[in-house]
Amino acid sequence: MARVMADCRRFPSDSNCSLVIIGEEDEVARAAAEHAISVHGHEDTEEFRRQIREFLEPAENYTFEARAQEPMPT
Ligand SMILES: [Zn+2]
Repeated sequence: MARVMADCRRFPSDSNCSLVIIGEEDEVARAAAEHAISVHGHEDTEEFRRQIREFLEPAENYTFEARAQEPMPT
């Protein structure tokens, strides 16, 4: 199973969060949801957890460099 990545640097946040989570899709989707809820104050809804899966990228996209930010979709 290919590993995927959730990269907080992709979206603007008050804390300029730099967290990157890499692992298998189910692990990352869960950890990213829990992180977004506990640290970034997102609401824990089915819709949000589903949306998170759409933000996951291939782990090969990982870079140490700063990356362009996208607005958080609503
Ligand atoms: Zn974060």
